[in-house]
Amino acid sequence: MEQKDLILETYSKISDLVMEISSLKDLSQIENSINTLVNRILTVNNAYFLKPTEKGFEEVNNKNVPEEIMDLVSWAAKSLKISVFPLEEGGSALIIPFSRSQKLLLIYACETDTEEISNEATVFLNIMSFLTATIIENLELYEEILKTNEIIESNRKFLNQILDSMISGLAVYDNEYKELFRNKNFEKFEQEYGKKLIEFIKEELVKLEIFGEKITKEKEFDEHFLSIDLLRTEEDNYLVIISDITGTKELERLRKLDQMKTEFLSTVSHELRTPLAAIKAYSESIVESLDFMDTETLKDFMETILNEANHLQNLLDEILDFSRLEMKSINIKKEEFSLNELIDEVYSSNKSKAESNDVKLYKVLPKENIIVNLDRTRVKQILSNLIDNAIKYSDKRKDLKFVKITLQDRGDKVWILVEDNGIGIPKEHHEKIFEKFYRVDSSLTYEVSGTGIGLSVVKELVEMQGGKIWLKSVENKGTRFYIEFDKGK
Ligand code: ADP
Repeated sequence: MEQKDLILETYSKISDLVMEISSLKDLSQIENSINTLVNRILTVNNAYFLKPTEKGFEEVNNKNVPEEIMDLVSWAAKSLKISVFPLEEGGSALIIPFSRSQKLLLIYACETDTEEISNEATVFLNIMSFLTATIIENLELYEEILKTNEIIESNRKFLNQILDSMISGLAVYDNEYKELFRNKNFEKFEQEYGKKLIEFIKEELVKLEIFGEKITKEKEFDEHFLSIDLLRTEEDNYLVIISDITGTKELERLRKLDQMKTEFLSTVSHELRTPLAAIKAYSESIVESLDFMDTETLKDFMETILNEANHLQNLLDEILDFSRLEMKSINIKKEEFSLNELIDEVYSSNKSKAESNDVKLYKVLPKENIIVNLDRTRVKQILSNLIDNAIKYSDKRKDLKFVKITLQDRGDKVWILVEDNGIGIPKEHHEKIFEKFYRVDSSLTYEVSGTGIGLSVVKELVEMQGGKIWLKSVENKGTRFYIEFDKGK
């Protein structure tokens, strides 16, 4: 054969070999293929496949390997080279170690009648050994990956089970706010509160990105209180945890209410005792000294007694109204009347009280008479209460103290404003100011006697007549209460 043809034939054999070996998919296919390939070169009598173990070698197919061959295997394994050894009873043993980067992966050993192996065959076997070792290594790596994947998958399932059994909703977002994961309860929260919850979360995520590592928010959705924790993870993802804290909030509210009621009782007893003590002291003086008392002093004393008795009556009326409202036993009796006239009346009856507190009382009324269809007595009570507060909480530090009542025609509605330049109400108290027993927690408020039920009664009475009440107030500057009613004709 010409050299050129020889080269071509060798290449074609090698190419067949590459194709054959690279299509192998598991160890048993590899064994068969090695056997067939070796058989093409020499006659194989017995073939063995051995795997290196910690103790030595293990025959893959549980065949008994003759001791003589086993010794030769151990020897060849050290050199990692294809070797041929003559056997004691004739013939020889061919040992092919398959290794990658000096690591022994598999050993093929066979008994053969062939005494010597040609150079061409050795080249062929070397290539086969190299390719097969690569495949074995890949298969081992592939199996390892499969095993690792199985472990990862079972861990993932386990983790999901835990996350799904959490009472809280949990979701993970990437740094572009795309959702990567959500547990079952997060799903439930979304079903219940819909888009507005997700939008709220996204807005808070933007804030988290700007302001730091963790944000905790409490937010009311459809009369449920949710606590929402947002944290940034080390991988720059965002973790969102939602819990329903309605129960805890309600408990907190009831506890607070209970505490407020206790405080209320002690305030009320104190409030009742003060005018009562004055009435008692002045009456005793009159009884003891009536014979020596001039008419002027007697009038003075009697006036004080009358004032204190009025104060007592107002207090008791307020408490009575409050308890009637609690029992829902207040009826609204609507009638048509002029609001301008009613405000004139309220103005006159509060003027002297304001003056005695060094407060100037104003009224601003439209020229046109505004007629409304409301409960006149209750509207009067509402305004008296607001004016009373405006005088009570006037700022002693100011030279000019005023309270202004304004009536405004607003088409089919009417606005009544009660404004003062008193101590004001800090913003954080604005919402709570209408709650029962609530008083602003400040020394300026505590200087003034009060029970904390006035505004809750006012709000209830306004709403019972279909009206609205709100306020604007700045601490140390003053307060303006707004009331809106439908004229209702
Ligand atoms: P109180 O009997 O304490 O006056 P209210 O229910 O009438 O109870 O008012 C509740 C609280 O609101 C008061 O304790 C006070 O802190 C605040 N407040 C009400 N009106 C005014 C006002 N015009 N200026 C400043 N604070 C006010």
